[in-house]
Amino acid sequence: MRCDALWSNARLATMAGSGLGIAEDGLVAVQDGCILYAGPAGKAPIFEAEERTDCEGRWITPGLIDCHTHLVYAGNRAQEFELRLKGASYEEIARAGGGILSTVRATRAASLEELVEQSRPRRDALMAEGVTTLEIKSGYGLTLDDEIKMLRAAHALGDRANIVTTFLGAHTCPPETNAEVYIDSVCDMMSIVEPLADAVDVFCERIAFTPEQTARIFVEAQRHGLKVKLHADQLSNGGGAALAARHGAVSADHLEHTDETGVRAMADAGTAAVLLPGAFYFLRETKLPPIDLLRKHKVPVAIATDCNPGTSPLTSILLCMNMAATCFRLTVEECLLGVTRNAARALGREDIGTLEAGNQCDLAIWDIEDLSELVYRMGFNPLCRRVWKGKDA
Ligand SMILES: [Zn+2]
Repeated sequence: MRCDALWSNARLATMAGSGLGIAEDGLVAVQDGCILYAGPAGKAPIFEAEERTDCEGRWITPGLIDCHTHLVYAGNRAQEFELRLKGASYEEIARAGGGILSTVRATRAASLEELVEQSRPRRDALMAEGVTTLEIKSGYGLTLDDEIKMLRAAHALGDRANIVTTFLGAHTCPPETNAEVYIDSVCDMMSIVEPLADAVDVFCERIAFTPEQTARIFVEAQRHGLKVKLHADQLSNGGGAALAARHGAVSADHLEHTDETGVRAMADAGTAAVLLPGAFYFLRETKLPPIDLLRKHKVPVAIATDCNPGTSPLTSILLCMNMAATCFRLTVEECLLGVTRNAARALGREDIGTLEAGNQCDLAIWDIEDLSELVYRMGFNPLCRRVWKGKDA
């Protein structure tokens, strides 16, 4: 059988079937950017490959997926971080021009090109650790033109990775209006942002938008054929997980304060959980997400960096896995599935996240002896090669 390229003498973690789908002495063959075969060499057809790579026993996983980021923004909040370390209160920080609105101001002031230039190094840092798919949210523009600019900037970063875009107009209420009026305008934006977005997200929280306002946005999003997802129950249990499930959300994210009713609703609706240990760490939270309940009800669990300037300035998917293991006590298997198969679930994608025939051929090839090293180390990158759509990238 003919194929474009073939990687042999590899140990595969296909993430297909149950568990990690391990194949010792494995082989991956690609044709036109898609996987023709991934599995044990002994069961493979005979391939005639244009290009062959001997992996010398290295591990191959699917290209990693960061399924929740806000990595397109301008400026940063390092000074605010420094002020907080010196004991400044939130009011003092707000008075000094800090907080989310400082990112909104900087993002509005930046041109599309500046936004892309400032965001690209964050994307590159993730890609350098084997990430081949990133979700990127808008939500620092908060006007139609600035939200469109953010979504365009996200798409402009799609030249070396799959970019999945999410319209998060309902991130926070802009200072020039009130929440009820603003929700109406977010609903109005939907028909215009629709071609630029795969999904719609809302920050449903006491300090952001109510469940009723969230539901209005979800109904409008679904009228436009967009998937929905939710920032749910991060700071308090507002019934966000159950609300997301009721609307058939692909994911509910954060979930620190979600109870069993919410978890059960997610399980019934097939809504994935996205845990964000970077924000938990950076905010020095102590309330753990309901890991045992998620396990008990077999909710697929993804983990992501939540890369954003205010609460999780994290651009390392490997460190994110270590944090999920250390802070949340996720197992190595849960961490690895959380940045591959389950992260794809959280994006509503079936063509990535596992090494299976027909899927897009995105691979991460690792210089490690054991998969647990990917979760165990801190600040060390054992990536050997990254393959995107069947090509070295
Ligand atoms: Zn977030």
